[in-house]
Amino acid sequence: MIIGSHVSLKAPDYLLGAIEETISYNANALMIYTGAPQNTIRKPISQFKLDEAKSLMDKHNIDIKNLVVHAPYIINLGNKVNPRTREIALEFLEKEINRVIEIGAFYLVIHPGSHVSQTKEEGIQAIIEALNLVVKKEHNIMILLETMAGKGTEIGRTFEEIKYILENVENPDKYGVCLDTCHINDAGYDLTKFDDVLDEFDRLIGIERIKVVHVNDSKNPMGAQKDRHENIGKGTIGFDILYSIVHNERLKHTIKILETPWVDNKPPYKEEIALLKAAKN
Ligand code: FE
Ligand code: FE
Ligand code: ZN
Repeated sequence: MIIGSHVSLKAPDYLLGAIEETISYNANALMIYTGAPQNTIRKPISQFKLDEAKSLMDKHNIDIKNLVVHAPYIINLGNKVNPRTREIALEFLEKEINRVIEIGAFYLVIHPGSHVSQTKEEGIQAIIEALNLVVKKEHNIMILLETMAGKGTEIGRTFEEIKYILENVENPDKYGVCLDTCHINDAGYDLTKFDDVLDEFDRLIGIERIKVVHVNDSKNPMGAQKDRHENIGKGTIGFDILYSIVHNERLKHTIKILETPWVDNKPPYKEEIALLKAAKN
């Protein structure tokens, strides 16, 4: 099983520290933001201790592809109303792709965007246009569109919306999907019938296009459109369903990443990963 968690990059060791943290969780995957997810201030990659991080990954058999990058959630590709904001979002995504390439990672998770005061259709078109402007054939990366809870005017709540974007971008082979269990629950998919949900995804998009699964419990009931993550087994999805998702044969090829909240100011990942990896008795 390829499993890990969100790990933060901190001075002074940055990526090296993130890999050390990953190993301490008995994990073989991780997801990072290249800086604070709420802003676009970024340190140069030259400070990341990249070479040391990579040799530590080699030593522990952590494939570089299992280092997933998440773009900051403040960039909104779905809004064209303010041209200056638009320019900043496009520039940032372009730089973020270059950072992913410089790190040597492959998967970049993005939230599709929010349509705000435009219609949903305009928002979806704005996302497709933005991706076409920035994502180029020669980039050795893959953009993963995350399935969203549908909070506010978020696009990507339904598999149909994701499908539409995937079918209308210029270089479709540059794109895949990040399936977030909390988000799809909040979006209204019934995880008690997870195989039916996967069947629907497969019919519309194809299961092989899911590259990363965000494994989170939810604080809210199915369909709430809220997006508040809960610790594994403490939420409305519950341990048994999350356990069966991470062990689902049809998702065997995917990288599982936990983004559950800290407990008592401490990351819960070592314990939660152990619970999910443990053989069922
Ligand atoms: Fe996300
Ligand atoms: Fe997520
Ligand atoms: Zn979320």
